[in-house]
Amino acid sequence: MVDPVKPMIPTSHWCLSENAPLGSKSVWVKCPGCNRKAQLDHEVDASGNVAPSLDCTNPDCSYHEFVRLEGWPGGGELQLLG
Ligand SMILES: [Zn+2]
Repeated sequence: MVDPVKPMIPTSHWCLSENAPLGSKSVWVKCPGCNRKAQLDHEVDASGNVAPSLDCTNPDCSYHEFVRLEGWPGGGELQLLG
């Protein structure tokens, strides 16, 4: 079984909140559709796959995709961005 290709969120569009551990409730993502910044209450696996899908909180934006975070450190050394 092959995973479908997911849109990548570039490193410039997500960051880890300071001093937060890797995982849920510690990642901020800028919506690729409208650039609204929102905190993920999602799970992110070691490969950067976000689950469940990224559903934009902006009522004027219909962005709703399964995505991957580009450059996700996967539990290694973290670089805080943004
Ligand atoms: Zn959006």
